[in-house]
Amino acid sequence: MRLVICRWQKAGNDMQKRQAMRIIVNGIVQGVGFRPFIYRLAAQQNITGWVQNSSTGVWIEAEGEPESIEYFIGLIKRQPPPLAVVRQVYTESIEYVGYHNFSIRRSSREERQLVMISPDIAICKDCQAELLDKGDRRYRYPFINCTNCGPRYTIIRDVPYDRHLTSMDSFTMCPSCQTEYDDPANRRFHAQPNACPVCGPQMQLFNSAGQMVNHDIHRLLLEGKILAVKGLGAFHLVADATNAQAVAEIRRRKKRDAKPFAVMVRDVDTARQYCFINEQEEAWLHSPAAPIVVLRSRFNDQLDSHLVHPGLNTLGVMLPYTPLHKLLFSDELKILVMTSANISGEPLITDNHKALELLKDIADYFYIHHRTIVNPCDDSVLSVSRSGAPHHIRRARGFVPRGITIPSIAEPVLAVGGDLKNTFCITRCGEAYLSQPWGDMIHYDNYKNFLIGLQRFKGILDVEPVQIGLDMHPDYQVSRWARQQKGCTLVEIQHHHAHMAAAMAENCLQQEVLGLICDGAGWGSDGAIWGGEVLRGDYHQYQRLGHFEYLPLPGGDQTSRKPVRMALVYLYSAMGEKGLELARKHLPDLSLDEQEILIQQISRSRNLLFTSSCGRLFDAVSAALGICSWNNYEAQAAMQLEALCQSHGDQIYPHDICCKDGVYQMDISPMWPELMRDRYSNDVPVPIISGKFHRTLTNLFTEILIKVREDTQLNQVVLSGGVFHNQILLGGMLTALQQEGFEVFYHQQVPPGDGGISLGQAVIASEVKDNVFRSTRTDNRDTA
Ligand SMILES: [Zn+2]
Ligand SMILES: [Zn+2]
Repeated sequence: MRLVICRWQKAGNDMQKRQAMRIIVNGIVQGVGFRPFIYRLAAQQNITGWVQNSSTGVWIEAEGEPESIEYFIGLIKRQPPPLAVVRQVYTESIEYVGYHNFSIRRSSREERQLVMISPDIAICKDCQAELLDKGDRRYRYPFINCTNCGPRYTIIRDVPYDRHLTSMDSFTMCPSCQTEYDDPANRRFHAQPNACPVCGPQMQLFNSAGQMVNHDIHRLLLEGKILAVKGLGAFHLVADATNAQAVAEIRRRKKRDAKPFAVMVRDVDTARQYCFINEQEEAWLHSPAAPIVVLRSRFNDQLDSHLVHPGLNTLGVMLPYTPLHKLLFSDELKILVMTSANISGEPLITDNHKALELLKDIADYFYIHHRTIVNPCDDSVLSVSRSGAPHHIRRARGFVPRGITIPSIAEPVLAVGGDLKNTFCITRCGEAYLSQPWGDMIHYDNYKNFLIGLQRFKGILDVEPVQIGLDMHPDYQVSRWARQQKGCTLVEIQHHHAHMAAAMAENCLQQEVLGLICDGAGWGSDGAIWGGEVLRGDYHQYQRLGHFEYLPLPGGDQTSRKPVRMALVYLYSAMGEKGLELARKHLPDLSLDEQEILIQQISRSRNLLFTSSCGRLFDAVSAALGICSWNNYEAQAAMQLEALCQSHGDQIYPHDICCKDGVYQMDISPMWPELMRDRYSNDVPVPIISGKFHRTLTNLFTEILIKVREDTQLNQVVLSGGVFHNQILLGGMLTALQQEGFEVFYHQQVPPGDGGISLGQAVIASEVKDNVFRSTRTDNRDTA
């Protein structure tokens, strides 16, 4: 069926020279304005024929003069639309038909369902120009968008991606918008969220009593007011970042929240006044995904760093990614605090009424619109690692639901992730689709969103997986859910095996490798809490070759919020009575009573949990050095320890590796007396101690990997686990291992932490067919 037809004139005698070519383009070429792009290109080059989406890519039949066709193919490869990624262009000569025009052929329903949904895309240059053009009919219209930019995933209810299946269905296009939408030569051809001031959504301002008011947004912000602003994927709280009182007020009203705030800046030049920015970081700031980029901050007396990003030497920065956000800025307002409006730990707020209700004591004003947010999606956060590679901290807006190419192209599989920073993952045709993070499953509302999101993903991908990968943890909410699914094959997977497989998958590794997994906590096959692991394995099986020596974990998972307790456990385990003496002296945030109770628990309890967690080691060191005793947000103690680190010099602390029952044990206890002496007797500055500690770990890990390489003859190492958010450790390990001749792989597409494990689970589950692993196995060699 023909959708649109364009006819152009051609002198009859030229037709003799024309030839016909079939062109198939693979990659991200659907839902990104590719067909109109081909149409326009064909018009320019006097090419006739047609273009159509298919399950194998975009198909083109082109007839024209040989040079024109060659030029046409060259442009497809070199200058595709901004959001397209051309992976392959296949061409073959075909029989000449003699088309008189070029048409865009409509895809069949089946084909449309294989079209991938695009993530939300930051406002493009053309739309920015229109936004600021006084003569344009969309001058200062906050919802301006086109085929190359605008909302996508956050407004989609179902496939195919047509306006009536998005939350734009409640806005009927005016004749001008409809004309643009229907015209293949127009930038807004089939731009589903197309809108203008006449027919599209509008912004409205409410006060905290819920009454509509008419104030100047800029003036409110300059006066230090806190605004709840409905954006693309959720509400933000917004305030002038240079107004210390306003920032302090957000902290006060949000209570207990010590998390660093991200800022949005008017432009990169403004960002430079607050941060150091290299070329790659700048490219990410400007990218269509427009994530928050974590940058090294520089002193600027305009910003109270103790309020905006307490205890850290980095600042999360983003550029305005929607027209609405662009309009929040002025010559006097160049940097805004822009933080998720949700209550700590609870789901994102997307609904107008809920926002007015939940935030009435936090926001002074509400700046809202009536385009429904269908899929809540937080801002993505990434940094650029020393190697120049992207390092995902939170993969959400701008990335989800883009697929990640994986080695396996088996039947669709679902993996449900873990209970912390949960994401799920569905595979289809050699790609893995990770959801945005749903938060911690301890909150029932997060769990509900996980279930809703899962239904929507299955709908969008048009699959119903019957194979489920899950964490073997007995109490994970999502694992319990998976175990209740009838008619599904379950593959129970060890947490750190999943981490290792995730790093393997995104690097398309197939062979057996070594894995160094440094993590907070994951259920081990022996019932202990693992987290500092050296594994070997592939997608089918793994073997635990080494780990940190077990330490008691009084209070179980709760301990992760209380680094100072872990400091006591380490001091006591490493130094006995002498350690307790040091704890009494130097851990003032742990009362003597509490110390007493903890010691009793450790020495008497029979049901004590044990751990090899690397995350808890960072907690303990941070607390013992007096940096951070309590985690107000996840990994606060570890992040502050990293922030202080000065890595010059080459001193390290003593440490040991021994072998018990064929498994290497990394022993860090010899470090503790010297570390405490450095801090409390020798007056060594904390940044130097932090540097020495980081170097100690790098050495220890390199030493153990050299040992297991000798034993296994394996030379490829993957690095994964939440501790590898630490850039000093990651950078240090890369350098050290490469110096030793290892081939090293790490995460560049999903976070190394628990937000990424669903990817590993999915690939393991799709590789494992009949060999279903049950958590009752406790022997050392585990099979997934
Ligand atoms: Zn645009
Ligand atoms: Zn309109």
